[in-house]
Amino acid sequence: MRSARLWARLLGVEGTVVEGVDFDEQGAVVAGVRPGFRERGRCGVCRRRCPGYDEGEGRRRWRALDLGTTRCYLEAEAPRVCCRRHGVVVAAVPWARHDARFTRGFDDQVAWLACQCSKRAVSELMRVSWRTVGRIVARVAAELRGRYDPLAYLRRIGIDEISHRRGQRYLTVVVDHDSGLLVWAAPGRDKKTLRLFFDLLGAERSATIELVSADGAAWIEEVVSERCPNAALCLDPFHVVQWASAALDEVRREVWNTARRTGQTAEARSLKGARFCLWRNPEDLSGRQRSRLPQIAQTNEPLYRAYLLKEQLRQALKLPLPEALALLDAWLAWARRCRLEPFVKLAQQIAAHLPGIEATLRHGLSNARTESVNTRIRLIARRAFGFHSPEALIALALLSLGGLCPPLPGRLS
Ligand SMILES: [Zn+2]
Repeated sequence: MRSARLWARLLGVEGTVVEGVDFDEQGAVVAGVRPGFRERGRCGVCRRRCPGYDEGEGRRRWRALDLGTTRCYLEAEAPRVCCRRHGVVVAAVPWARHDARFTRGFDDQVAWLACQCSKRAVSELMRVSWRTVGRIVARVAAELRGRYDPLAYLRRIGIDEISHRRGQRYLTVVVDHDSGLLVWAAPGRDKKTLRLFFDLLGAERSATIELVSADGAAWIEEVVSERCPNAALCLDPFHVVQWASAALDEVRREVWNTARRTGQTAEARSLKGARFCLWRNPEDLSGRQRSRLPQIAQTNEPLYRAYLLKEQLRQALKLPLPEALALLDAWLAWARRCRLEPFVKLAQQIAAHLPGIEATLRHGLSNARTESVNTRIRLIARRAFGFHSPEALIALALLSLGGLCPPLPGRLS
């Protein structure tokens, strides 16, 4: 009796009777268990009490957390019950989620690790494939999403699209600017996808949204003006800087191609290497990298001009509203006559989105935060490569960036 309770503690199970523990032929620990009296005869989906149906397919095993260095399984009967709502289903067990081959503790630990460490570390430590990690993460996220409502109290949100699977597929994501948390994501990037979010939010809560930031895409603006009557549409400053970086890169490529065509190989090589210091924020450059800038200024005036245009735009977006608007005005005038085709185009694009940029500045939307969430989602999208479904990627993103990551088993309370 005492040892049965000791085993239940060691295995981290509650509401469970441990009947016996032994090694199997492969040397793994197998604990024979059954649900405690109160946990018996419940539907696997809704956990409501319901009449038994049959014995199901006999005894089943669930992988549990290793005991020391040894693999461990729980083994039990898996009878079926007949639920009024869900029909004939396998009865619920207190040690595992419905339809899982792993125990609750095992699932939670895998989900926690997937949020914290590399793909390889999770797979090797837990002895499961990365695909299995994807399925576990999806299961854990689905349960937690049912328990909390991440869409409560939204006031200021950011909507964005993220590419994954090497840019072939897209997700639409919604971030809460106030908490910095990812609150929603779905596969696709179109009006239909985004309407799903507002359907879920409901008309009443949509009306309390004060601010929506996005990348200036027409499909987002259309759905927002249709569903959020009281929201100001902002342009994420992060995207404006991204546009400027793309224009700068275009100038750099043109200059590089010209140098190569005219046989200036040393010049071309040095330009290729310049990409990094032109792209990074000057405050993040090392001393050696910063010394490249005057060199570029001397040998390549148009490229340096493009660099200054990008930098001044970035700085303007950091200023308080009146200064920012004045500087932005001066910037537009400069860019329009700068004789660099990509920046002339950029000036047109920015002029067209001026109301959105003004709204961003007026509401003091911080660039740093939106950019950091954005970067982190992109990193997760890259890591999730190898999951079989976008649902697993979404689940991992919600666990890591949506504040849904479960605590390690046995650590809560
Ligand atoms: Zn049920």
